[in-house]
Amino acid sequence: MNPLNRRLGREWLTMVKMVELYCNARHAHAESTLCRECQEFLDYAEVRLQKCPYGLDKPTCANCPIHCYKPGQRARAKMIMRYSGPRMLFRHPYLAIAHKLDGFRRVWHPRELTRDQRAKARER
Ligand SMILES: [Zn+2]
Repeated sequence: MNPLNRRLGREWLTMVKMVELYCNARHAHAESTLCRECQEFLDYAEVRLQKCPYGLDKPTCANCPIHCYKPGQRARAKMIMRYSGPRMLFRHPYLAIAHKLDGFRRVWHPRELTRDQRAKARER
């Protein structure tokens, strides 16, 4: 994927690591390979991230007022986060802490933004 910026690149890496942790534990695959469903999930997550209407202002997904995942993938995301969330602190402490700090970012729902603010968000 295009490295949008450092923070979003790191967020993407966090997502990849969380899916790997989950898939390697639950679907019995070799380290750093994914089963077909988890790979599909990750491909889907990549598209959602690229299309995030907040662009570089993107909050963490847990703090986002828009729920952009379709129901099946949203359910999968929940299972993955529930499994990998608590384990990230031990396996990838830097990513886990960075994600925690990103969690303090707040955004408005797009309907609450003016047209100017939306245009500016897209330029950055
Ligand atoms: Zn899997």
